[in-house]
Amino acid sequence: MTERQQLIAGNWKMHHGGPSGCALASAIVLACGDLAGVDVVVAPPFTGLAAVAHEVEGSRVSVAAQNMHHEPKGAFTGEVSTQMLLDCGCTWVILGHSERRHVFGETNDFVQKKTKAAIAAGLRPIVCVGETLEEREAGKTLEVVSAQVGAVLADLGGRPGYGVVAYEPVWAIGTGKVAGPEQAQEVHAAIRKQLAGHSADLAENTRILYGGSVKPDNAGTLLGCHDIDGALVGGASLDAESFSKIVEVAPSPV
Ligand code: PEP
Repeated sequence: MTERQQLIAGNWKMHHGGPSGCALASAIVLACGDLAGVDVVVAPPFTGLAAVAHEVEGSRVSVAAQNMHHEPKGAFTGEVSTQMLLDCGCTWVILGHSERRHVFGETNDFVQKKTKAAIAAGLRPIVCVGETLEEREAGKTLEVVSAQVGAVLADLGGRPGYGVVAYEPVWAIGTGKVAGPEQAQEVHAAIRKQLAGHSADLAENTRILYGGSVKPDNAGTLLGCHDIDGALVGGASLDAESFSKIVEVAPSPV
């Protein structure tokens, strides 16, 4: 039986980077305030991080950035360092989201550098992995996901349980197509096995989230799967009521 506490993280993407972010954060704090036994994280755009962190201060909601650069400073126009995120009040950072990998060309190597830098700086990484539809149809799902996890295995293994892996099939993100519980569990179990290849401690303590069109009506079944330890939620995290309903159905550790 697992001791892992579930984690529900909301990825706001390029929404609510101004004053509306504070209103959404405050509504989430209110809606999730009484829901103990689950970790709750929100990830606003860079421009909203400091204000949202201020808004949720003292509550059970933590703040994540959606990306970062691995270098501590320098000539990297448009980029943000780990220290800048810490200064804003972030404790988490989403890395290697499929939109970063597929729209902005981030490679496994780049995601590894960021993961290493985040952990070294004291930011907890949520490392996203997942296959495209073409890769799934070609029977390459486990091969692709294993290479993505393999790139960060040693870094996550240096501090078991500090980092999180999010399995997000690219074909299920923002499409309304959700992976079936068996499909998701199969990949989560394979990731857990790969983590166990590094150490039993890493496998037992790493939370593996599912992401891809998670909504209040499908969250219960997904979060009930043996190796699914929470959810990374996009669209449904932009509404405090939908998001809190997902937090509500997340099982507490036994
Ligand atoms: C995401 O952006 O990580 C995501 C899972 O989005 P959605 O829930 O909208 O599919």
